[in-house]
Amino acid sequence: MIQLYIPLNFLGVIYREIKQSLTDLDKMFVLMEKEREVRDAPGAQPLAGVDATVRFEDVSFAYEPARPILKHVSFEIPAGKTVAVVGPSGSGKSTLARLLYRFYDVQQGRITIGGEDIREVTQSSVRKAIGIVPQDTVLFNDTVEYNIAYGRPGATREEVEAAARAARIHDFIVATPKGYETTVGERGLKLSGGEKQRVAIARTLLKNPPIVIFDEATSALDSANERAIQSELKNAAQGKTTLVIAHRLSTVVDAHEILVLESGVIVERGTHAQLLAKQGRYAQMWALQKSEAAPLM
Ligand code: ATP
Repeated sequence: MIQLYIPLNFLGVIYREIKQSLTDLDKMFVLMEKEREVRDAPGAQPLAGVDATVRFEDVSFAYEPARPILKHVSFEIPAGKTVAVVGPSGSGKSTLARLLYRFYDVQQGRITIGGEDIREVTQSSVRKAIGIVPQDTVLFNDTVEYNIAYGRPGATREEVEAAARAARIHDFIVATPKGYETTVGERGLKLSGGEKQRVAIARTLLKNPPIVIFDEATSALDSANERAIQSELKNAAQGKTTLVIAHRLSTVVDAHEILVLESGVIVERGTHAQLLAKQGRYAQMWALQKSEAAPLM
């Protein structure tokens, strides 16, 4: 009996491994499907990368032709500055981030980095120049170390730890049973939304790209945690060209420019002080958020 049990048990392990690999493969194919939507132009060269200024010039975009999502959107993020986008759900905020990362190509207008149209340079060089801290970070079924080092393959343990310290996740990691060797993800230790965001911040710090996109979580973290994450985000954005999809006013007040997006159109823009003085949409959101401690949408 025992002889039969061991191989069966072993087969069970193999089965689970294969099943998990297939799930990972599924995810990979979904990602590759996305990748295939854009292709490098023949003879495309890498981004020169000297100037990290980002410009959206009269950008219009639709996922489906009948339903325009962004309409004539223009703005600039000067190198090292932060532009924040606020607006109702579905107004097209994340679409701006997807276009900058070149998941899709714009149908009208252009997006440039350092003056170069991102459609004319290699996709890999654009992605190398950009770090993303998404709302919901995908963790691989692998060690914490692997998940952080994914920001820069080949990073040493010291570098991974330094990034984890800066993202204030180091203490949490060393308190887990196997420290940096602890497996996380669906099959391992489950991390909270805030912890996952910290892993993403550590990845970005390690990657150290000139351009950073933050898609702030809408889900309510407790306020102490939220303030802490925001200070870590601020550190990670220091000196970088930053696009923030913001849901909290405290994140946007220092932005070089705030864009209020509604149905794919920029309906208001300016600094926090300018927008408050205007007493328009932004001022309304500010008043609402102050009174209700509600997210900025
Ligand atoms: P939220 O604040 O809820 O994240 P958002 O302002 O970031 O919203 P987007 O994610 O940019 O909004 O979506 C804008 C619109 O585009 C939405 O109506 C959405 O349904 C649509 N959309 C997003 N992704 C796709 C897609 N892959 N195919 C078709 N439509 C899409």
